[in-house]
Amino acid sequence: MCLMENTDQEHTDSKKTIYADVIIDISHEALDKVFQYRVPFSIAEDIKPGVKVIVPFGRGNRETAGYVISLSGTTDYDHAKIKEVSRVDEESLTVESELIRVAAFLKHTYGGSMIQALRTVMPVKNKMKPRTRMTLRLALERAKTEELLESWEKKHFLARARLLKALLAAGSLEKKTAMELSGLPLKELRKLADKGILTLEEEVACRSPFSGMTRSGDRVQLNEEQQVIVDEFREDQDGGSARTYLLHGVTGSGKTEVYLALIEEVLARGRTAIVLIPEISLTYQTVSRFYDRFGDRIALLNSRLSKGEKFDEIRRIMDGKADVVIGPRSALFAPLSRLGLIIIDEEHDGAYKSELTPKYHATETAIYRAGLCGASVVLGSATPLTETYDRALAGRYHLWKMVRRAGGANLPDTEIVDLRQEFMAGNRSMFSGKLKEAIADRLARGEQTMLFLNRRGFAGFVSCRSCGAVMKCPHCDVSLTSHRDGTLRCHYCGYERKTTKICPVCNSAHMAAFGLGTEKVEAALATEFPTARVIRMDADTTRKKHAHQELLKLFEEGKADILVGTQMIVKGHDYPNVTLVGIMAADLTLHGSDFRSAETTFALLCQAAGRAGRGDKPGQVIIQTYSPDHYAIRTAADQSYEEFYRNEIAYRAMMHYPPRANMLAILVQSGDKGAAVLAAARIEKMISRTREEQEDPVRVLGPGEARIAKIKDIHRQIIYLKHRSGELLLDLKERLEPVLESHPMFAGVTVQFDYNPMTFY
Ligand code: ADP
Ligand code: ZN
Ligand code: ZN
Repeated sequence: MCLMENTDQEHTDSKKTIYADVIIDISHEALDKVFQYRVPFSIAEDIKPGVKVIVPFGRGNRETAGYVISLSGTTDYDHAKIKEVSRVDEESLTVESELIRVAAFLKHTYGGSMIQALRTVMPVKNKMKPRTRMTLRLALERAKTEELLESWEKKHFLARARLLKALLAAGSLEKKTAMELSGLPLKELRKLADKGILTLEEEVACRSPFSGMTRSGDRVQLNEEQQVIVDEFREDQDGGSARTYLLHGVTGSGKTEVYLALIEEVLARGRTAIVLIPEISLTYQTVSRFYDRFGDRIALLNSRLSKGEKFDEIRRIMDGKADVVIGPRSALFAPLSRLGLIIIDEEHDGAYKSELTPKYHATETAIYRAGLCGASVVLGSATPLTETYDRALAGRYHLWKMVRRAGGANLPDTEIVDLRQEFMAGNRSMFSGKLKEAIADRLARGEQTMLFLNRRGFAGFVSCRSCGAVMKCPHCDVSLTSHRDGTLRCHYCGYERKTTKICPVCNSAHMAAFGLGTEKVEAALATEFPTARVIRMDADTTRKKHAHQELLKLFEEGKADILVGTQMIVKGHDYPNVTLVGIMAADLTLHGSDFRSAETTFALLCQAAGRAGRGDKPGQVIIQTYSPDHYAIRTAADQSYEEFYRNEIAYRAMMHYPPRANMLAILVQSGDKGAAVLAAARIEKMISRTREEQEDPVRVLGPGEARIAKIKDIHRQIIYLKHRSGELLLDLKERLEPVLESHPMFAGVTVQFDYNPMTFY
């Protein structure tokens, strides 16, 4: 059955000829040059996306290698003129072919075009010129050279003599230095090389992100919990079984040490590994632990690398000089051959979902890639996604647990403070009596405190106390955030205006800022604890390139007593002198009107709490909240993941959210609101028509305005589909896509799909 009434002319083609779209050049710039070939029946079965084929190419029909990126049953070309695929290349198992198959998976699962998918998996220009360095060395024996030098000096060949002298002294010189020293042009240097007086060697210069790092060679002895896991992995490797594992280990249980040992296991078998770490945790501290173990065998890919550095790292990977790749989400597509292991650290992190089309999730994609090359996948987290834990319990992933902190430190004592009671008791400060007392105590003992607040800016939004109007961005449907410099800013589009006391709606003079921000906490600390040294870390204070690291370094060196910050302070830092963690208002992320609000709140609270007491001194955590009875807060205070999971999965099941159902979000956008509304309504109608053919019909929510109904003057309509079967949703998507692309009814709107979205739109 067809989604639209009038689109089925093309289905009348009854000949079963298939055509292969082939790319000849897989460099980034040429990915969209696609050539179509007819597939002979004799090899039709072997032709799939990713397969390397030999095709006649160009005017001379030269035999050329290419990759199949997709197949179709029709062609726009003249049947008589279209060329045929010659054969499948025997050596088809290249890393390029693997990545093209991954691209086909991305397109199938997450939508978008094949070109977008190919760009995602092959993000680096192949054609960039490597930076080379030319080195000059003496080719003659020393005595002969000295003779020659004397004769040149006699003949007043002074430039050449200067060069020989310098080479005699230094042994070798860089081309650039040699030219400067002697004043000779490159042509003359080459002549001397031709005469056999010196050699000119060109070597590739690597721009290394590790310059300056050193290796200590230290190694900790694995504890029992760690050793059991590594032994089990070794057995699996010996038995040739590649699995997906979930390493569920409390904060500080020593997951990184386990990763290092697992990587050693696969390297020992001649295979390679990828380690994904969320960009924000990809700190010097983390990277140096890997460098310490593997030295130059590792390659680092992150967004802070220059283009040249990135290119060099990719080349080291392709040349087989690096066999462990570390990086954020996109490092998943590192062109490593013989891939044996993919590790995804902090598996629950939202950054593993791409915000660009195709909106892929790193975990699903990693499992797919691993399946192609027989690799294992290890997902690590203290607070796994509900979906992930659910799969582990169901046996789809193998579950490893680490319940104790490595090195013997205890988990911190945690208590919940009810802010409503504080308020009733007359406390108007943002610090509860307990937290105030605990901070004073740390200051007296010379220990450090971290205060965590999930919000940036000074005081949140500005609203009218008389009529309730909220100051909103004129281009985006979000409230403006008030900053201490007297401006109101939009965090989506950057719109900025002066703050106002006059309400634009009722003209009263009661506009005022609400809420709580890091700057406000900092100001309150200055009043309560005037002698305390405070560092504030949020998006505003870390805008400069190295500000993030510098602030943390100051804190680590004990140059501050209290660190106030947003999410970015809870990630993976180890400070033995921090014995108190205060969470200012645990509810701030709880009421996000998103099906993951409880999960993210739980993870943030656990991570924040995990910062306390990492050294010998015991840690204390105080959670301030207006919802002390909410399960996310209660279970975080107990550090009880299982208890949290039981509550959360019951909620997901009741509401038909993942993992109890799959979801497909369809985002319809247009500069013209009417067009977006109309298009969304039409899409909904097409989907509803398919419900008749389904035994268990798909659930449709919407269309309606997205949570943020407008961004940068683009209107957003959203539809959610829910169904137990993911394949059914993907099939619907694949049937919708061609209609949305070609039908004039959808001109002027863009439609994006998001399969199992991480948040609501
Ligand atoms: P996680 O990644 O689980 O939070 P880490 O791997 O960062 O934990 O380990 C936490 C701390 O414990 C680190 O300082 C690490 O050096 C230390 N550690 C890990 N394993 C051991 C061990 N077997 N013996 C002693 N210390 C260990
Ligand atoms: Zn008003
Ligand atoms: Zn805006």
